[in-house]
Amino acid sequence: MTQARRTQSPQSSQSPPPASDPRRIPSVDRLLGHAAAGDLIEIYGRSALTDAIRADLARIRAGQAQADDGAGILSRCADALAAERRPSLRPVFNLTGTVLHTNLGRALLPRSAADAVAAVMTQATNLEFDLETGARGERDDHVEALIRRITGAEAAIVVNNNAAAVLLVLNALAMRKEVIVSRGELVEIGGSFRVPDVMVRAGCRLREVGTTNRTHLRDFAEAMGPRTGLAMKIHPSNYAITGFTAQPDPEALHALCREYGVPLAEDLGSGSLIDLAAYNLPPEPTVSAALARADVVTFSGDKLLGAVQCGIVAGRKDLIARIRKSPLKRALRVDKMTYAALEAVLRLYLHPERLHEELPTLRLLTRPRGDIAAQAHRLAPAVAERLSGRATVSVGDCVSQIGSGALPVETLPSAALLLTPTGGEGGKRGGGGRCRRLADALRRLPVPVIGRITEDTLLLDLRTLEDEAGLLNSLSMVHD
Ligand SMILES: *Cc1c(COP(=O)(O)O)cnc(C)c1O
Repeated sequence: MTQARRTQSPQSSQSPPPASDPRRIPSVDRLLGHAAAGDLIEIYGRSALTDAIRADLARIRAGQAQADDGAGILSRCADALAAERRPSLRPVFNLTGTVLHTNLGRALLPRSAADAVAAVMTQATNLEFDLETGARGERDDHVEALIRRITGAEAAIVVNNNAAAVLLVLNALAMRKEVIVSRGELVEIGGSFRVPDVMVRAGCRLREVGTTNRTHLRDFAEAMGPRTGLAMKIHPSNYAITGFTAQPDPEALHALCREYGVPLAEDLGSGSLIDLAAYNLPPEPTVSAALARADVVTFSGDKLLGAVQCGIVAGRKDLIARIRKSPLKRALRVDKMTYAALEAVLRLYLHPERLHEELPTLRLLTRPRGDIAAQAHRLAPAVAERLSGRATVSVGDCVSQIGSGALPVETLPSAALLLTPTGGEGGKRGGGGRCRRLADALRRLPVPVIGRITEDTLLLDLRTLEDEAGLLNSLSMVHD
């Protein structure tokens, strides 16, 4: 069809054949026999190269690509094959100002943990094998002693993430029973994790008590009965109820639950293994403090803890044993790589004096504003040079967030490179459009640079920048 139309076009009789003339397009076989094809076949294989050639020839026939000679076509094929081979999941520069950015993969592992993962990846391991006795082992054993030592918990298990930990606790301890929760804590965490929905999926009946702003001990007491399986507290990770508010005294609530023989679970969300206030950071409940007022607690491995995606359930030995027996534990269990990373990170907590240097999450959260500002001033000229003609670069104050549910109202003072796009007419509207185009260009770099748009500047918060040379190298590849 396309060819027929082309040969009938009026120009074809007078001017030289158009670029897409089928007579000028080499055949697939000729291209495969071309000298430049040998290397590509070696690297990518004959069938991948054949597909790339066919796709290129189709674009030529459709008038979307130039009908080059064999070398030209194969060079385009080489680019296409290289782009195809680039991993989908790859490193980026997170300069958004959100340290634990869920969409950008949350916590960064320390090198020791990455090495530990690499070591268990390519070899057999003692994942479920007791090297003392030669008998079958328990995979949680690799981290349980560390969690007990750091948090004071009697026992602990690890599952896929904290959402899984909550689901498992509910299902194992309260299936077909009621779970008492304060109305003010029926939260939705980003990414469609809603506590009431999780309850239903876990096979539990939600028993809401109190009001949005105030819940009293007597509300819990009145709801206790033969159908009660569990009482639950949920840390309000991403919101705050302020003003005329009340929640029962934690110790009194725990005593009430004991009186009725009902376990009390607390979902901490992030939860911290250390007291962040000691580092002048916004306070977050610690796991050990929560264990003093609850029977089991659940928290994430890749939020403030600073390890990999996983969820940890820690608490009373008898309850953990019940939870471990649940068939859901098998479905939600984690891989050897997760244990290797988690174990290596937990070991860093045994040396608290060095933790703020060794654990990337804490290192980034505790960076003083002055250091970040000095880095921004140092880097600004080099960044300006790489973006010359596209944007001007200045240094300004900004605020970072912890992210991943830690209170968004709590911010950390930081410093940023402010990129203001140049060219075109001024005006707020035009500036915004140019700013988005600049953000697009930085996002499409081989190592993408992700910032934050504020009005008509693109802000690169340097709190999370450690690899300065890498950033400059990436920015030097910006093109239109
Ligand atoms: C983040 C969070 C979760 C979910 O944890 P994931 O590790 O992302 O599954 C659950 N509960 C609370 C309170 C949270 O903040």
